[in-house]
Amino acid sequence: MNVINPATEEVISVLTPDTAATVAAKLKALRAGQKNWQNHSVEERLAIIERFGELVVENKPELARILTSETGKPISQSINEINGSLGRIQHLKINAEKWLESEMITPKDATVEFITHEPLGVIANISAWNFPYNVGYNVFLYALVAGNAVLYKPSEFASLTGLKFGALLHEAGVPANVFEVVIGSGAVGQYLLEADLDGYFFTGSYKTGVHITQTVAHKLVPVQLELGGKDPLYVMDDVVDVRQAAINAAEGAFYNNGQSCCAVERIYVQEDIYEEFVQHFTEEVKSYKLGDPMEEDTFTGPLTRPQQIAVLADQIKDAVAKGAQLVLGGESLNRKGYFMSPAVLTGVNHTMELMREESFGPIIGIQKVSSDEEATDLMRDTPYGLTAAVFSEDEARARKVLDQMNVGTVYWNCCDRVSPNIPWSGRKNSGLGATLSYMGIRAFTQPKAYHWRG
Ligand code: NAD
Repeated sequence: MNVINPATEEVISVLTPDTAATVAAKLKALRAGQKNWQNHSVEERLAIIERFGELVVENKPELARILTSETGKPISQSINEINGSLGRIQHLKINAEKWLESEMITPKDATVEFITHEPLGVIANISAWNFPYNVGYNVFLYALVAGNAVLYKPSEFASLTGLKFGALLHEAGVPANVFEVVIGSGAVGQYLLEADLDGYFFTGSYKTGVHITQTVAHKLVPVQLELGGKDPLYVMDDVVDVRQAAINAAEGAFYNNGQSCCAVERIYVQEDIYEEFVQHFTEEVKSYKLGDPMEEDTFTGPLTRPQQIAVLADQIKDAVAKGAQLVLGGESLNRKGYFMSPAVLTGVNHTMELMREESFGPIIGIQKVSSDEEATDLMRDTPYGLTAAVFSEDEARARKVLDQMNVGTVYWNCCDRVSPNIPWSGRKNSGLGATLSYMGIRAFTQPKAYHWRG
């Protein structure tokens, strides 16, 4: 399997994909290893995960280079991701023992009642490439701390990073037969679906998420899905600093080249400030340095997957044919690599694919609205339910709109943000179940109820 640098189109590594036989052998080893791992105290497991975090910090420059070379993520954003993801380890360190200890419910009656939280066993973590640290840690670190063994399949676009996770976890003290990495594309992922695992934790597209759920349904094991979105941002007319709102909105749309699950994917702006907003927004996007992702001041690198460029080009074509204006970008660069300049479209509406289907790239539509009611209806008009944001001076007005959103996360005067303290979840086509917070560790446990008569 060739690993290709999206900025240069060069093959930077050749890996041997797993087979049904190697997946079966890894699973057999994990079954044996999990039993011992479960018997370690939470404190011991946490100490190992903390050591893993220290190793990540010691190796940060090399890890950031690897991530940038295989995904095209600008190097400063690779470093940000590695730094930011360490917050999950800190969060586990502070809370995991409390969340995993047994709970006494009825201490005094003739029948004493209490609950313990047992690990699921050996779980599959099938992951995405866009934020491999964040979305990987959300699953495998929490699962390991809860006493599970993990069969981890990184995306085929982030395999080198995935192999590094394995090496550093083992160096930190996670036994080899408690965390195993499986290399390959969807066909290899399919072997995991056929294997006898105790839970499936998936981050990726709606289409693959549905396929996984249907394929493993008969096993009746937990399935958790972190999927895509078409996340709206509404800018109200009471915003005082329209320029700052436009800068923040542009970052929410174009950070990591728009390849974030919770990227701002559509913007609605009140008509009174629409022109001003569009002008500042466009100026800001023009200022982004586009080019070599290894350079520290690059904000926009190549797309990770070449095939996405055609998806974005189709969205632009469809929108323009239906009356939209392409005010900026959408061009390929005169150089090797999967580059497309960030595209801004105005005069858009919901007949256009751009405003309905996940773009997952450097493209945004900005639509004019005349009232909160119109904005609310448009924001709700989607099969997805990941996040929604409002920029406004008026908390009550923003809250009224956000309370009507059928989404897992709402933002007032911020966007494109994930915190380990509160759950991360999608509704409708955006997912099933939650990671992070106490819910994110309970996801990797099953309760045992004790009825205890002395
Ligand atoms: P994808 O669905 O193409 O692939 C995800 C993973 O599934 C990869 O590891 C892939 O190899 C594997 N896979 C593909 N087919 C499979 C099969 N038949 N059986 C088993 N495994 C299979 O998605 P992607 O392109 O890697 O990720 C982009 C998507 O992920 C976007 O929609 C994005 O919004 C979403 N995402 C969501 C979150 C979140 O937290 N909600 C986070 C990151 C990404």
